[in-house]
Amino acid sequence: MEKVAQYLQEHLLGEVTASPEVRRHFAHDASILRLAPAIVAYPRNENDVRKTARFAWQLAKRGRVVPITARGGGSDTSGSALTNGILLVFTAHMNRILTLDPRKEFTAVEPGVSYDKLEQTLFTHGLFLPPYPASQNFATIGGGIANNAIGEKSVKYGDTGQYVEQLRVVLANGEVIETGPLSKRDLNRKLGLSTFEGEIYRSLDKLLEENAELIRDQRRKSRAPHNATGYNLHNIRRKKDFNLTPIFIGSQGTLGIITEANFRVIPYNPSTELVLVSLEDVKDLDDVLPKILELKPSVCDFLTKSVIEEVTRINPHQLQGVLIQPQAAIHLLIEFDDPKDGSQRKAMKQVQKITEKAGGVYRLATRSDDQDQLRKIRESVTTILTSPRGQSKSVPVAEDVCVPVNRLAEFLHKSTQIYNDNGLPAAAWGQAGDGVVRMQPLLDLGQLGDRQRLFKLADAMYRAALEANGSITAAAGDGRVRASYLAHQYSPEYVELLGKIKKIFDPYGTLNPGVKFSSLEQMRSLIGGDYSLEHRHEHLPRS
Ligand SMILES: Cc1cc2nc3c(=O)[nH]c(=O)nc-3n(C[C@H](O)[C@H](O)[C@H](O)COP(=O)(O)OP(=O)(O)OC[C@H]3O[C@@H](n4cnc5c(N)ncnc54)[C@H](O)[C@@H]3O)c2cc1C
Repeated sequence: MEKVAQYLQEHLLGEVTASPEVRRHFAHDASILRLAPAIVAYPRNENDVRKTARFAWQLAKRGRVVPITARGGGSDTSGSALTNGILLVFTAHMNRILTLDPRKEFTAVEPGVSYDKLEQTLFTHGLFLPPYPASQNFATIGGGIANNAIGEKSVKYGDTGQYVEQLRVVLANGEVIETGPLSKRDLNRKLGLSTFEGEIYRSLDKLLEENAELIRDQRRKSRAPHNATGYNLHNIRRKKDFNLTPIFIGSQGTLGIITEANFRVIPYNPSTELVLVSLEDVKDLDDVLPKILELKPSVCDFLTKSVIEEVTRINPHQLQGVLIQPQAAIHLLIEFDDPKDGSQRKAMKQVQKITEKAGGVYRLATRSDDQDQLRKIRESVTTILTSPRGQSKSVPVAEDVCVPVNRLAEFLHKSTQIYNDNGLPAAAWGQAGDGVVRMQPLLDLGQLGDRQRLFKLADAMYRAALEANGSITAAAGDGRVRASYLAHQYSPEYVELLGKIKKIFDPYGTLNPGVKFSSLEQMRSLIGGDYSLEHRHEHLPRS
């Protein structure tokens, strides 16, 4: 690798290092896995990315595969921001907002810009980019597109991918392409290109046409509101156009490296109403949730009694006076942001009626200080995530499954059983309106017994999600952690199709290999005994 580092040092504008300290730092993302890069590079511009890909391509053609992995904030929980090859860290320099046109509600950004920085800038113009992942303080737009991040606002506004209009992408061989909708004529022009881009369009068009029925059939079967497993093969080849953008969304850096993204952004209404609904029985969700969703809330999150119990065990004062019914089985935090006069009030009255009919209790917060109080309930999850018990820590595994909303209550019942059978408290939280369930078991990964429990637990949770017609991952991605479970969710023909897609874009396997396609054994060998999120305290040159 010394020669590779030397070549990159000589040819890139950005810094390149193989220092053991830096490599150790980047051996972590937010997953349970550990893998140290051989080289860390901080690209200053697209040309740096292009040169790195081109060099890796040439080496691979001669039989030496040097993996390239893009990295944003490193908050990925699926182990997909790790590599043993070259890590391209975008947060150092390629972190700018390039264009913001408030009138056209449009922005163009580099991939290393954080959600937070972008949102702060958009707010000053009365705009925002949904969906608000909980990690937005440290997650980047590049990572958000590559994982198709979702968040609290997804119930009304959808996922990150829905706002992406166009991408600039460096392909495996170093060519740069721009994605976007192509008319029949434009597509024909692409199909005629003698470049790698032309080869991609030709092979993909043919493969998607041959497998159109298989793709439609898979879509018909899936009932999960969000599904980040595999590749998004829908909406590429459409009647009126052909668009490569969707395939890169959620592809976890395995098909190309994003160097610029154009987004549609939307008006933001800071004046909202927030309400906490506490229900006696999780089963009440079956009746209450559909009625609440008809009112079009902008947030509909939940947390279970076990979360409150765990938080209170760790810090008895944290939620004092915030909850009116701490013993309730489930709490829903519901926000309305419709700017139309009187609409939020009307929705609130409806929520009150629905709650009272179900025998639940209700607390409305209109003033911002009251709303801050209520938000503390959801934020209290951080206490669980950051408080070890002895050597045991909350670890992300099967922490992002997604089920149809009408099966959420049933799934929560089943997952509680799974956790309790393994001697663990079943603290669950997530997005009720999107059927997204997050649970992180308290385990000591240094202990063999706990590692075994981890696999048992993950296996049972994925099976339960699939039995409920859901998905093994809403947005965290299959990465390395869930790659071997792809075959649980999809038919062998569909898994084979996904493999062919990867081959079209990455014939030599240089783009984030091991991600989306790897075995359980490969994943097991990467589990670190020292799970922590300390790498988030950054270690970078900056501009
Ligand atoms: C406490 C916590 C809370 C979280 N909450 C949420 C949540 O609410 N919703 C949610 O969706 N996720 C959540 N996540 C997961 C994670 O934050 C998201 O997946 C996020 O989008 C990752 O962004 P990142 O910048 O950290 O990307 P990274 O972790 O650096 O990378 C993620 C993936 O993107 C790829 N990538 C990065 N940059 C590029 C690029 N330029 N081109 C191509 N590929 C690229 C990487 O190779 C990797 O595969 C949470 C994580 C933590 C630790």
